[in-house]
Amino acid sequence: MSATRTEDLRARYEAAFMPNYGVPPVALARGEGTAVWDVDGRRYLDLIGGIAVSSLGHGHPALVEAVSRQVAVLAHTSNLYLHEPEVLLAERLLGLLGAPGRVFLANSGTEANEAALKIAIKYGKAHGRDYVVAAEMGFHGRTLGALALTGKPSIRDQFGPFPIDVRFVPYGDAAALREAVTDRCAAVFLEPTQGEAGVVPPPEGYFAAARRICSETGALFVVDEIQSGIGRTGHWFAHQAEGVVPDIVTIAKGLGGGLPIGACLGLGPAGTVFAKGDHGSTFGGNPVSCAAALAVLDTIEREGLLERAKTLGARLADGIAAIRHPLLKGVRGRGLWLAVLLARPCADRVQAAAQDAGFLVNAVQPDAIRLAPPLVITGDEVASFLDALPGILEAANGA
Ligand SMILES: *Cc1c(COP(=O)(O)O)cnc(C)c1O
Repeated sequence: MSATRTEDLRARYEAAFMPNYGVPPVALARGEGTAVWDVDGRRYLDLIGGIAVSSLGHGHPALVEAVSRQVAVLAHTSNLYLHEPEVLLAERLLGLLGAPGRVFLANSGTEANEAALKIAIKYGKAHGRDYVVAAEMGFHGRTLGALALTGKPSIRDQFGPFPIDVRFVPYGDAAALREAVTDRCAAVFLEPTQGEAGVVPPPEGYFAAARRICSETGALFVVDEIQSGIGRTGHWFAHQAEGVVPDIVTIAKGLGGGLPIGACLGLGPAGTVFAKGDHGSTFGGNPVSCAAALAVLDTIEREGLLERAKTLGARLADGIAAIRHPLLKGVRGRGLWLAVLLARPCADRVQAAAQDAGFLVNAVQPDAIRLAPPLVITGDEVASFLDALPGILEAANGA
């Protein structure tokens, strides 16, 4: 029997790539809207969107037009020269934050957090503050600075020690945070909901308490919105629903709709900690990624995608919660960013059963399946997944 194209590509991938990702199960060839096709022509409903990145789905005309136009006109300037798309994007992001500030553009989430960490270190040195606080099980990226902030021992410990003192607190515990943050603390880094930990929202009031603790002690409050931001929860930024104003916000993932871009947004005085020469990136804020991000922001506004994330996210969560199955323990999350909670650690099997049924989902934790579909998903598509889910669970249960 001859190998399928997927089997052939997986074998060659395994031989050519470092083993850090393992070998992914599906080889994707193309996408359109919320649908993707693999190299053997199988169609899937994309319920993970490249990890909360493909906010407009695949091949959205606004994104295609903006990127094509910009790459033909001017693809790169470096930071030696400025260009209009970056200025428009920075102004636009500050407008969405609704607070005065300054922007640094990077290429990824981890780089956005590196910028935030360097700001925290510089601020700390100037004010006698020599450590930062982050949350257990939090995720902030894979480069060494962001990894130092990442509270997951399995991905962190073998690469330490790190050149910065990071103290970890249990996520969601305001009393522990108060205990850990003194006037020697330079910054507190928190996700509004912990994404990689399994889409774990904090208890009500945690973010307001964190803001208060930072204000009282003088620590910078850094909110990592790399996964939660740009409409995912039905708000431009998840922290806006908590009624807090951070000192620094980092974003990436959904901002470029698939093009690589990240940003570190410094509000108030945090926007001017960096002086000339303190930080930089050759590719950061390149015109093509900025054009993509502007198209994403325009489209979210024009197509009412914040509202859609709220209403369809609620419909998806309510639909899952209404299903009775011995493997299904519940659902948590906000907007179009949910975790299906399993009664046993069999997320890999549920992910595989979903794939067999034509749905791409992500086994984010051994007992949790993450859903982060494109924000353009329709009510019919949500319904099709809800119809299929009992059968998927049953297939995983019997496997
Ligand atoms: C994905 C993610 C990062 C890292 O972003 P990369 O673009 O992969 O470097 C950082 N923080 C959070 C909360 C994330 O979800």
